[in-house]
Amino acid sequence: MAWRSSGATNAALIKNMVDNGLITSERVKNAMLGVDRAHYAPSHPYEDSPQPIGHRATISAPHMHAHACEHLLPYLNPGSRVLDIGSGSGYLTAVFANLVGPSGTVIGVDHIQPLVDLANYNMQKSPAGKEMLRLGQAKFIKADGRLGWKEGAPYDAIHVGAAAAEHHQTLVDQLKAPGRLFVPVEEGYMQHIYVVDKKEDGSVERKKLFGVQYVPLTDAPVE
Ligand code: SAH
Repeated sequence: MAWRSSGATNAALIKNMVDNGLITSERVKNAMLGVDRAHYAPSHPYEDSPQPIGHRATISAPHMHAHACEHLLPYLNPGSRVLDIGSGSGYLTAVFANLVGPSGTVIGVDHIQPLVDLANYNMQKSPAGKEMLRLGQAKFIKADGRLGWKEGAPYDAIHVGAAAAEHHQTLVDQLKAPGRLFVPVEEGYMQHIYVVDKKEDGSVERKKLFGVQYVPLTDAPVE
């Protein structure tokens, strides 16, 4: 139903995702209503498809952002600490920041400095985004996301917005117990979303969800 969710406005896009069952939670709906995609996707912001943002990166499709929020939701509470790897446009970092509130922190990591700059720039287009940056509710860092960001660990939730070539144990190590990782992983010519739960006793459970198409989680381009 993803392709049917496009709308003429941010509110229409989100309403269509609710009507199509892609968003089931009121909290996710409100968090997405609070961030205008037009500030992050330069062309066709309300179309339910990925859009180019330069540097061979894309802003993911709205329905993928909705899935990520819905699956991580039990770990996105006021005060939660979140790592958003491959933050690109900064859109999802901003939505997560809405979910964790002013007492929470979301760290967006990207390995391309101009995209780190772009995410900061995009967030400053709205007073709410500016305030989130001022409070440290959202912040962007240049780093290789395959290593996580240990300075901010441990995290309640880690989201990976690019397809990993392997299951990175480092990311699981940086989760709280309990905590949850949402990550696309390459498997031959396919990619699948995995949800990895670290339970309160430290044991780890991995579930394979569905097939996807993401930009790869790679080495940084040579500057
Ligand atoms: N969630 C973002 C997705 C951007 S596309 C959005 O919706 O806007 C994936 C991003 O992953 C790109 O910005 C790319 O630069 C970044 N990326 C790829 N490999 C990476 C790595 N090793 N470390 C950090 N970021 C990486």
